This record gives sequence, C-alpha cells and structure tokens, in this order.
Amino acid sequence: MSFSSELKEDLLHMPPEKACDLRAELAALTQTSASLGFRGGGRITVTYRTENAALARRIFRMLRGLRLAPQLHFVEHARLGGRKTCVLTVEGDDASALLREMGMMEDTAEGPALRRTTPHVPVSRQCCRQAYLRGAFLGAGAITGPDRGYHMEWVCQDEAMAQTLRRTLEHSGIPGIVYQRRGRTVVCLKNAQHIADALALMGAARARMALEDIRIRRQTRGNINRANNCDEHNDQRMIDASERQVRDIVLISVERGLFTLPPELQQLAQARLEHPEMGLQQLGQQLTPPLSKSGVNSRMRRLTRVAEEVRQRLEKGGNARGTAEHSGGSAEGLADAGRAGDRLPGGEVPLPADDRPGRVAGERPLPAGAGVPGEDGGRAGD
Ligand SMILES: [Zn+2]
Repeated sequence: MSFSSELKEDLLHMPPEKACDLRAELAALTQTSASLGFRGGGRITVTYRTENAALARRIFRMLRGLRLAPQLHFVEHARLGGRKTCVLTVEGDDASALLREMGMMEDTAEGPALRRTTPHVPVSRQCCRQAYLRGAFLGAGAITGPDRGYHMEWVCQDEAMAQTLRRTLEHSGIPGIVYQRRGRTVVCLKNAQHIADALALMGAARARMALEDIRIRRQTRGNINRANNCDEHNDQRMIDASERQVRDIVLISVERGLFTLPPELQQLAQARLEHPEMGLQQLGQQLTPPLSKSGVNSRMRRLTRVAEEVRQRLEKGGNARGTAEHSGGSAEGLADAGRAGDRLPGGEVPLPADDRPGRVAGERPLPAGAGVPGEDGGRAGD
C-alpha cells in the first residue's frame, strides 16, 4: 500500500466528532468529489463520485448524518480493468437541504435559489480546519513516502478551493505553495516540517511518526558523519546535548506540532533539526537576526521546558496538546515547487465554473453546531 493510501486509510478511521466538523469535511468532499446536475423545472441533483469504496461509505454516512437519503450505485469501467466508481446521488428536497447546509442555496421570496456552485461553510475554528483538511486530502490529496522525499499535495477543482486550502494551512503557520499543473491548481508542501505539521493538524499520528522516524535517522547519520569529519565538532558533550535537544524538538513536533511554538522558538527548533552538528554559537549564526550563544542557550531552555511539559502530560495520560504556547507564522521561506510524487486523482467531474454572485448580505446563520458567527470569517469557498 502506498504511503498516500495508508494515510487515507487512517483518516477514514477518524469520524467527524461534531456537527461543525461534519459540515467542514463534507464541504471539502463536495468541492473535490461532487458535481451538480441541472434538470428541468429547476431541479438540482448533487452527485459524488469516488473509486474509494470506504470513502463512498464515509460520504454516505455523513449525508445520513444530515438526515438525507443518498442513493448509491456503481459504475464499472470495462476498459479500466473493471475498476468501479461509487456514485452517490442526492436529489429533490434532499439536494436542496444539502445545498443549504453547504451554504450554496438560500431561501428567497420566490423560493430556494442557488447562490454558489461551490461550498461556503465556516472553517475558522481549529476543529473545523482539521476536518476540512482531512476531507480535502481524502478527496484530492496525495503524499510521497518519506523515504522518497518530501511532497504533499492537493489537486484542486478550482481556484476558490486552492485559496481556501492555502488560507486554512496558513492559519496554522504552514505556508502552502500554489501552482498550476496541466490546467489544475495544485497546493503543495515541500518542506518536511510543514508536512509534519499538516499531518499533526489532520490528526494523522501514524504517518507523522513514520515521517519523523526517517528524518531522525537521516539527521543522526548526518550528525555522525560530520562529527567524524571535523575535529572542531568532535566534542562528545556537545553531541550529546544536541541529540537531547533534537529529541525534545521531535517530541514537541510529534505531540503538538512545532507551529504551536512562538516564532522565535520555531525558528531555533528548525535550525537545530537542520544542523544537529553545530554548537550553540554557530547555531545562533543561522538565525535571523543572529543570536548570541547565551541567547540561544536561553531559548533552548524554553524549548526543553515545553518538552518537559509535554512529557509530564503524556505520563499523566493527558492530552499532550494542552497549553500550547500561541501559534505563530513560520519564518521559513518556501521550498521550490516541484513535480508531484505519486499524484492522485483526476477524473472527477468538476463543479461548473464559479458564478456565484459575490457575498450575499445578511447570511443565514447555520443551525446549531455551525461556526460561531463573527469568528474571523474564514469560510470554505470564500
Ligand atoms: Zn468544528
């Protein structure tokens, strides 16, 4: 099984816990995997298509969770070696109800009217962002195995989805790279730390561990080689200290995500991971602006304290996320946008071009569980 499939498998085992998250994930799946059909008499159907039967079941359950009755059938592709596409169709009043839930349809004096052709639901809360990212990855994501380099991507149906994704990632300090590939907009991450943070955000612990594991092995190897080659660094105490620091940083990274650290600690953590062979003074020169040895030392002690806190929480069996320091933007520059690793999906019928008439005044509040009105207004499909 590819690393992508394994990650999806894990995500498929995480049911959305709250109504707001169900809506956020379904919005992402609607963006990536659904098309609208227009019949006579203004009737609209919403059709989800996927070759992943487990994903079809998940969408089915989510629709049932909204008290809708989707119809499921299969289309077999004789030419593609009998591969099956699962097709879920929502029609009639259920389609209108679904489009209302997705913020695409509104009631007017003349009856319900389609306002947008792409979902528009709140994703400003952390829980909803996680759910949105999960849905978007299940519907349109791919990731390269960590042994083959670092690449994670979402192939978007339209620019609106790319922008929502980019903003959702950016909110957690993960700078996504947006570029065009064969007429599609792709959002990708090329930096190991950003990928690790995105996996943490989606709650994908296993994939994240696999990634960290390989990173540590690479770093340790680099560390030993460099230590052997260079007398100046051949100081066992320094190497021991560095290894302890790397372990602390990896622990924070795995349990909380480095994006939960203040920017100055993120930068130091990043530098330490990249340069395990350096002494504190030299490490300080890698920072912008450069920092003295004692400055680096005091920040390093703060990192150690955070790691200590994480360890204590884990020992108590609590949630390691607990009292994360505030989240800040990553100071790191963007890696270059390259080619895809194992890319997915293609083949889905895209929603028609976005012809929504701009933001509608006096938006209808969503039912209980939807995002808090007035919260910073991040919405899927903005
Ligand atoms: Zn939520």
